[in-house]
Amino acid sequence: MHQRLYALLICLLFSCITYAQPYDLVIKNGRVVDGTGNPWTYADVAVQNGRIVKVGSIPATDARRTIDATGLMVAPGFIDVHAHVEGSLEAQPGAPNFIYDGVTTVITGNCGGSSANLRTYFDTLRLMKTSINVGSLIGHNSVRMKVMKMAFREPTAREQADMESLVEQAMKDGAVGISTGLIYTPGTYARTPEVVNLAKVASRYGGLYASHIRNEGQNVKQAVQEAIQISREAHIPVEISHFKVASKPLWGKSTETVELVESARREGLDVTVDQYPYTASSTSLESIVPSWALADGDSAVLVRFRDPVTRTKIRTEMLDGLAKTCARIMNTPLFPATNPILPSTV
Ligand SMILES: [Zn+2]
Repeated sequence: MHQRLYALLICLLFSCITYAQPYDLVIKNGRVVDGTGNPWTYADVAVQNGRIVKVGSIPATDARRTIDATGLMVAPGFIDVHAHVEGSLEAQPGAPNFIYDGVTTVITGNCGGSSANLRTYFDTLRLMKTSINVGSLIGHNSVRMKVMKMAFREPTAREQADMESLVEQAMKDGAVGISTGLIYTPGTYARTPEVVNLAKVASRYGGLYASHIRNEGQNVKQAVQEAIQISREAHIPVEISHFKVASKPLWGKSTETVELVESARREGLDVTVDQYPYTASSTSLESIVPSWALADGDSAVLVRFRDPVTRTKIRTEMLDGLAKTCARIMNTPLFPATNPILPSTV
């Protein structure tokens, strides 16, 4: 009889313990930065069914599992708004590079380059069960390439309509907006109104416009102005990607470009920027080859590169461009202007 009573008491005790532990996890003693702009504060964070359900003072006994975060910061997963994970995330769905940095959500499809069919792309990622959440922009260059290939001209009305319907489909499939890479072909071939009309489609679906602007060196001011103009005319928030002035001779010009952004914001436009947390940048070799030389596909490009006159013209333009943006490098013996950039057997 006594044994049965004890068993009953133990059962009751267990059910009390279960009842007293409403949380799966409590992270204790950390400095919490909640992402709202508040200063950090000491607090415990309780998680239930994968969601944060309480922030405050929470006894360890309230959770089945406790993590002691003494001396550590506790923050929501970071969102990296400027990623290029197409291809690489499929190769490494665990994305340890992001996870170990605290990034749990990325926005890809930046700089004009995305999957042209976002529904298929998202389906693929869903099947792979990636460790991070992924949002995507629809890339203008990808859309233009699909409709016009590498044509160095304005779109016909039909082509413009086709590009707009690709953007519309992408927005319906879950794109967070449209991106441009106006420094890369075929984005360089597009004039501003083409982008405005595509951005208008994204705007109708609540999207934003992320811009790798047309120039980050000598003409950076005009390029920032163009991004702002697109925002104004398409009634769309604009995010200027990796905001910078890309050449040492132009250092200091950011006071002018920042003022352009601030003045647009005073006007009521939703203009924001993001920036690398480091002082270097990289891009593809293509960005220093004159755009006209890359038009109309690979075979047309090879014809130009093989023709001695055209080749000299390309080389001269490349060196001129480099001289403008990399004056310090060009003056070093490592990179004399007489050194042939292009191999003779292209
Ligand atoms: Zn970019």
